[in-house]
Amino acid sequence: MILVPLKSLFVVFSVIFLTVSCRNREPSEAKGVVDLNENLPVSNSISVCWKNLREDQRNCQKDLQEKLVQEFEEKTDLELSFSDSCDGKADIEILYQETKHENSHIESEDRAYSLMEIICGDFSRAEAMEIRSQCRTPAEAEICNVNIGLHEFGHAVGLSHEDLRPESPTSSAVYDDDKLVVLSKFDQTSIMHFGYYKDIVGTKILELTKGDILTINKLYKKDLGIAKKDCVDKYRYDENKKLCFIKPHSGT
Ligand SMILES: [Zn+2]
Repeated sequence: MILVPLKSLFVVFSVIFLTVSCRNREPSEAKGVVDLNENLPVSNSISVCWKNLREDQRNCQKDLQEKLVQEFEEKTDLELSFSDSCDGKADIEILYQETKHENSHIESEDRAYSLMEIICGDFSRAEAMEIRSQCRTPAEAEICNVNIGLHEFGHAVGLSHEDLRPESPTSSAVYDDDKLVVLSKFDQTSIMHFGYYKDIVGTKILELTKGDILTINKLYKKDLGIAKKDCVDKYRYDENKKLCFIKPHSGT
């Protein structure tokens, strides 16, 4: 479900990933939240497959795939390759799901991949009320399909909700501070900020923000460090790892 932070049931905490460069190449511009409990990316070359779309849902595939290329491939350092069917080897599997969408990083048969579930066309049984109420007509559903796919793909490539930030008006509860790393200041209009885009999900097609783009590029350069001065108050700066964690809080 879109309101729930990334699942982390089947992931392995990678200490190796923490031993990253702490040089601050893009000071105070990159934004976003990354969950270190997830299996973080190893390469910017990402294979994506479509798992179970019916023939009558191919328009949905076309619209979303074009948008994913336009945003993630053309604007960030990611290189995407798509397949119309899955053979169990792709990094991201896009799965049609009738009622809700959810992202999971899954390990299976020695393979870690992201499962990105989308609702294609009929949002009447979507779990989130905001989506049911805004994605009713075919024209609205087309917009919702693209916007939600964009957000879910953000999860699939490693980003968490911007709502987890204490500055967010829709702040979600954070229970511990050893995994949620921020790359800089709060990004109000991030595609990962559900509190922002839930109100416009059916009205206009979204784009990656400058902060989203820089966050993804930093993540795939394995450069999660930020300046200590940008990590104060409700954040905890880890001197050893040179990373900035969100302190536990109860949300709004
Ligand atoms: Zn989400």
